[in-house]
Amino acid sequence: MKNHILDILPDELKKYIFSIDEKKYRVKQILNWIYNNNELNFSRMTTLPFEFREKLFNKFSNFLPGIIKKEVSRDGSVKYLLELEDELRIEMVLIPNKKKNTLCVSSQVGCARECKFCATAKMGLKRNLKVYEIVAQIFIILQELKKNKLTNIVFMGMGEPLDNLQNVIKAIKIIQHNSGFKFSPRRITISTCGIIPKIKELTESNLKVKLAVSLNSAIQEKREELMPMSRQYPLSDLKKSLIDFRKKSSFRITFEYVLIKNFNTGKEDIKALKSFLGDISCKLNVIVWNEVDTMPFKAPSEQEVKNFIESMQELSSAVTFRKSRGSDISAACGQLAAE
Ligand code: SF4
Repeated sequence: MKNHILDILPDELKKYIFSIDEKKYRVKQILNWIYNNNELNFSRMTTLPFEFREKLFNKFSNFLPGIIKKEVSRDGSVKYLLELEDELRIEMVLIPNKKKNTLCVSSQVGCARECKFCATAKMGLKRNLKVYEIVAQIFIILQELKKNKLTNIVFMGMGEPLDNLQNVIKAIKIIQHNSGFKFSPRRITISTCGIIPKIKELTESNLKVKLAVSLNSAIQEKREELMPMSRQYPLSDLKKSLIDFRKKSSFRITFEYVLIKNFNTGKEDIKALKSFLGDISCKLNVIVWNEVDTMPFKAPSEQEVKNFIESMQELSSAVTFRKSRGSDISAACGQLAAE
């Protein structure tokens, strides 16, 4: 079976080129076509000799997932439904905001983690995405954006990125590489529900990347209700693993907290959250729950939101508040289901 050309790091391409006694500068030419000119079709790489293009064609696959559907939200977010080589489907979301264009990428087809607020969880896990299927999402969006720049990448689409950690790490290395997409580490965020052994593995990998944790409650029993995986990975151990990550990382950890009416906005919730975050160098990102017909949770009232935000102001961590984007096209947090 052929390797995919987006599956390999520039050094691996170099090795191959040397192994077939081609000139060193061919590596640069190929990478330039792919990552600067957004060209994956070997026959259009016209600076390469015809026979060499044939060799590439025989060695590497250049399949790109197809865009099956594109939906534009009232707020400008765009949800893409992509079909993979085995006909499974994933979604990714482009979120424009002033001068920023953020791409929310998927890391798995479905997810095994069963968070109660998440539509992806209802699909179960079909499979992990391959490295090239992750990199291809950036490739496709750059083609779509034409001259506009992609500024940020967040692994908050379908799947738990840490459950596909090795492929996510390799994809990020390609995305960050100076001969790849040249993305700064500060513009890439991996979001996790809190898989402790994988946070340790990520820490040990020395990959430079931002980390976000979907917290949603700092009370163990409530978090278990919402996110059953936290029975296996309790808050106290999660906190230790995050402190260790932070020691090695130059970026503060972001905690995502989705406000749900009469569930996680009360006094005891606020007290527990303050105590949990108190000694971690972090940011808190508060998001209002988007009501979905098939789920039992309700959005909090404006007063509940106001009280919550006010009571968080005394934290030393930066607190940001945002409304979920793309809810009218089911592209907001927890709504991706590739239907
Ligand atoms: S929220 Fe994330 S980790 Fe939880 S089920 Fe959904 S995709 Fe998986």
